[in-house]
Amino acid sequence: MLKYRSILPLSKGTPISIKQVELKQPGPKRVLIKVLACGVCHTDSFEQHGFLGDVFPRVPGHELIGDIVAVGEGVTRLSIGDRVGGPWHGEHDGTCRQCMRSQFQICDVKKVNGVSHDGGYAEYVLLQEEGHAQDGVGGLGHLAIQYANKMGCHVVAISSGGSKRDFAKQLGAHADIDTRKEDAIAKLKEIGGAALIVATAPNPKAISPLVGGLQAGGKLLVLAPVGPVEFDTGALVSLGLSIHGWPSGHALDWEEAIKFAQEHGVKCMVETFSLDDAQKALDHCTSGNLRFRAVLLM
Ligand SMILES: [Zn+2]
Ligand SMILES: [Zn+2]
Repeated sequence: MLKYRSILPLSKGTPISIKQVELKQPGPKRVLIKVLACGVCHTDSFEQHGFLGDVFPRVPGHELIGDIVAVGEGVTRLSIGDRVGGPWHGEHDGTCRQCMRSQFQICDVKKVNGVSHDGGYAEYVLLQEEGHAQDGVGGLGHLAIQYANKMGCHVVAISSGGSKRDFAKQLGAHADIDTRKEDAIAKLKEIGGAALIVATAPNPKAISPLVGGLQAGGKLLVLAPVGPVEFDTGALVSLGLSIHGWPSGHALDWEEAIKFAQEHGVKCMVETFSLDDAQKALDHCTSGNLRFRAVLLM
């Protein structure tokens, strides 16, 4: 039996360590992927510390890319040699109310790659066919700026300044706000308020005041799961604002997003680590010093 290396925390809060695992052939509707790279996400750290439940032992990783080396029975769209990605959304049943509405990623019995089953911190991974998109590894803030620019929006980057400032402009921000020197809410109000604010910084205190920077009818989209956040319900009600969360896209969303990125030149910037340095990559990710996306190269 062939063996391969994967990385996992054995129990809540323990550092991740390398383990040799037996290579299994894919079952029905599953594909075996030789992993090329896997993004390191804040969520992986939450998972390691037990905030996603008792999923241990579990190989994390929901931002993987690799090549298919074996396909199971009933796999129809993918074949050996295809390059695929394994995102957050892994599996859905296709029969519940949410699935009937094509909201597969919030399926009643959804499965998440790297959480419900082993993910991409490994040399090989078994995933279900329909949960995958062609090519791609995620990232948030620096991608959101590029996407918004290419979609024709006036983009304002809000950050704690420093080197991020110039970079936001290079990525396509038309203006930027340095929260250490400027009042972000006042600055947003000067330009009439934002129609949409995408909150990606994992900091409840940074998210809380943002509703004040929205225009009437505006929306605050929260993509960082940071627990309870206080909001001014006065502004919410009087201006008809909304606060929205979103877990992930499903397979077709990913395909469309990646196609858009390819056609419009949206680029994901990464800092790379070896599989052996996965804990270092995770620590770097949660330290606040990481600029873009930490990615493990197998
Ligand atoms: Zn992630
Ligand atoms: Zn469902």
